[in-house]
Amino acid sequence: MNRLYSERHIPVLLREVVENLVWKPDGVYVDCTVGEGGHTQAVAERILETGGRVIGIDVDSEVLQIAERNLEAYPNVQLFKFSYVELPVLLNILQVHEIDGLLVDLGVSTYQLKAEGRGFSFNQDEPLDMRMNLENELTAYHVVNTYPEEKLADIIYNYGEENFARRIARFIVQNRPLHTTKELVEVIRKALPYKEIHNRKRHFATKTFQAIRIEVNKELENVSKFLSFAPDLLSLNGRLAIISFHSLEDRLVKHAYRDDPRLEPIGDFIAPEPEEIAENRRARSAKLRVARRV
Ligand code: SAH
Repeated sequence: MNRLYSERHIPVLLREVVENLVWKPDGVYVDCTVGEGGHTQAVAERILETGGRVIGIDVDSEVLQIAERNLEAYPNVQLFKFSYVELPVLLNILQVHEIDGLLVDLGVSTYQLKAEGRGFSFNQDEPLDMRMNLENELTAYHVVNTYPEEKLADIIYNYGEENFARRIARFIVQNRPLHTTKELVEVIRKALPYKEIHNRKRHFATKTFQAIRIEVNKELENVSKFLSFAPDLLSLNGRLAIISFHSLEDRLVKHAYRDDPRLEPIGDFIAPEPEEIAENRRARSAKLRVARRV
């Protein structure tokens, strides 16, 4: 892998994840979204001397190469390129029948945002891509340039919670084809009223980019599928820890914990301390929810 990138990903709610996830010293844990391996490492470290192990998966083969390097010193970690939606298949192959803790961190890794050419960031000018799994066919280019206006508007409204979704969709369609993230940012700028561009707390393109990313990676569908089978993979008392970064995901997790008879939520959600947010802006919107298999 030879894309340029420099910044290392700071894992969100690291102490809270380890404290809540790791309850069995010789347990088997799965980090479903390894990223650069921050959480994986902390969990592996905690159970290294006591016979515990971690299976780590990610769909992004580039990010996994970074994780491999970061986790070299941990013989109790095994990494695989796999989607967490396919986790039961992997566990079958590995002949692992019960998991003591499952972790899902639904963020975007710093590598994906910062490495050249992945097309996730509105601060860089890159081809419209946004795929976490580079083998998938659907890209942001495809969504932006081929989806009907109505469908685009619904995606931007539902997944971005963007009030100006219809205007943005109309402007996108009128200005097609769009090739780069910068072109997309400029079209969003034209579509939004002046006030929205200058008064929003976050960059004015944030919501639209989030929406397209969710569509490209089928993020909400994946979370729903995962929530439907995850409890069956857990041992009795096994933990499910999920970190979400926006209300759409958090709602899915919260409702599953509340309504699924196989699960019992442990406490309410855990949010980062102000100190963590001061050090890591990405942590701002993070919520960790933990449940126990009953
Ligand atoms: N906890 C990590 C950061 C994770 S960022 C750390 O501390 O370094 C979220 C990761 O989830 C990304 O690397 C992304 O590629 C991965 N991901 C997204 N969808 C996935 C899926 N369906 N299956 C597995 N990994 C996925």
